[in-house]
Amino acid sequence: MGHAGMDADVVIAGAGPTGLMLACELRLAGVDVLVVERLPERTGESRAGGMHSRTLEVLDQRGVLDRFLAVGELTPVAHFSGLWLDLDGFESRYPHPLMLPQSAIERLLEEWAAELGVRLRWSAEVSGIRQDGTGVEVELSTAEAAPATVRARYLVGCDGGRSTVRKLSGIGFPGTPATMTALLGDVELPGLPEEYIFMRRCPGGHFSAIALEPGWHRVFTSEYDHVADRDEPATFEQLRESLIRLAGTDYGMHNPKWISRFGDAARQASQYRAGRVLLAGDAAHIHYPAGGQGLNIGVQDAVNLGWKLALVARGQAPESLLDSYHAERHPVAERVLHNTRAQAALARPGTQTDALRELFGSLLVFDDVNQLLGGMITGLDIRYPVDSDHPLVGRRVPDVDLKTPDGDTWVYALLHPAHPVLLDLRGSVEVAAVADAWADRVDLVEARSEDDHWPVPAVGEIPAPAALLIRPDGHVAWAATIGSAPDTSGLRGALATWFGPAPRGRDIA
Ligand SMILES: Cc1cc2nc3c(=O)[nH]c(=O)nc-3n(C[C@H](O)[C@H](O)[C@H](O)COP(=O)(O)OP(=O)(O)OC[C@H]3O[C@@H](n4cnc5c(N)ncnc54)[C@H](O)[C@@H]3O)c2cc1C
Repeated sequence: MGHAGMDADVVIAGAGPTGLMLACELRLAGVDVLVVERLPERTGESRAGGMHSRTLEVLDQRGVLDRFLAVGELTPVAHFSGLWLDLDGFESRYPHPLMLPQSAIERLLEEWAAELGVRLRWSAEVSGIRQDGTGVEVELSTAEAAPATVRARYLVGCDGGRSTVRKLSGIGFPGTPATMTALLGDVELPGLPEEYIFMRRCPGGHFSAIALEPGWHRVFTSEYDHVADRDEPATFEQLRESLIRLAGTDYGMHNPKWISRFGDAARQASQYRAGRVLLAGDAAHIHYPAGGQGLNIGVQDAVNLGWKLALVARGQAPESLLDSYHAERHPVAERVLHNTRAQAALARPGTQTDALRELFGSLLVFDDVNQLLGGMITGLDIRYPVDSDHPLVGRRVPDVDLKTPDGDTWVYALLHPAHPVLLDLRGSVEVAAVADAWADRVDLVEARSEDDHWPVPAVGEIPAPAALLIRPDGHVAWAATIGSAPDTSGLRGALATWFGPAPRGRDIA
């Protein structure tokens, strides 16, 4: 793409997991993207240690999951505030988390972005924004003496929890302040008597020591009697003293590679869009990292926003399509803030919390409870707000096997190009006729499913549909049921709502 007077169609602030995923999604849709990153290079540090099921599925939908599987390890270790969840029964090709440090996730996303032609500029910090009717001027503080300015149609702030883009665009960040202090460090720990310790509870809080790689442990301490100043640097000595207070020993801790601090503050952007500026990932939501959800919902924000922003930037859909990004993704992060507040409460020290944990833990033996919490943590149960009774509409499409005239395939393979897909499982001439009007942007695929019933997390088995309109993010926008005539006016409405009106004269009905 590319437009007169513009340096890019979209500028993304921040090359973390969210910014990189969004850049890839936009490039797949042919949009010209410039990512600006304040750091001079990657630090190699890792906050997150893995990705959950739905994030693995979205990478699979783009055909790049194998790169991540090749270096990570699928491990059945999901938990809710340290209470183990059983994900075996979840209907997904990848029900278990992939353990993989955030630095490796970022490296693989960056490599993919480079292959797709994303431009990434290091040492470029967004320091000013000015919006007008046609674009956004983004001021950058760079390594060079004079600030530079770039102009784009849209700017997306993927610049983390302290987002400058959010502050400059005047978007509020309401929520609750921290009530505790957690420290983490990657250290050598020769005196640890066990292979690992996970959330060991003590009178003042809890601590963990988890094996990272041969010779290295990640130590976490959580204390509840003070709240540290966010701007004060975390030190090795603070971590050591905290571990001694909690564990009574420092287990010979030495040689720190990385020390950091976090808390349980939970805040969310009051709006995800202000004109031509949008927010995604930690820039839009921060919370206690319990259950390992932040990176996941950031990547999924990007996958929700990418195709919408591409359609709007290409002039194929009205700007109002962007409002569905807030409408769909704000409730998802709101629920994560809510569940992490509950996890933080369950992690507090004290005999009353001990009793609550024991009781809560005993409920997890019930499959429905496990399904509810597992659906939440994995993101497999997400249903965007919809006006439809069909159980698939609004949900992520199950990845069932398909037979096509060209051979065997599967649903997620159809989503690799990140196009909308109209999957016709009954060879309906009515569906084909409607699809023809949107042929410039929607792939019509005729296929057969040999499964009479499709598995849907949080719902159960449902009869296989006759046809489905699948958005590029893998969520179902319209569905037809076997045995009744397809609702073609509903299909037309869904196509126009999500992918813009048909080119003039194409939609003849
Ligand atoms: C201890 C801990 C453990 C965690 N574990 C997990 C886990 O297991 N699973 C999980 O899903 N999540 C986890 N998280 C959360 C996860 O790390 C974050 O949610 C994730 O990094 C968010 O990605 P992001 O791209 O939105 O933001 P970030 O990763 O914060 O990236 C933002 C980028 O923007 C850049 N930037 C900032 N300001 C500017 C500017 N003005 N101009 C240009 N660039 C800028 C930054 O340098 C940075 O590179 C954990 C967090 C913590 C603290």
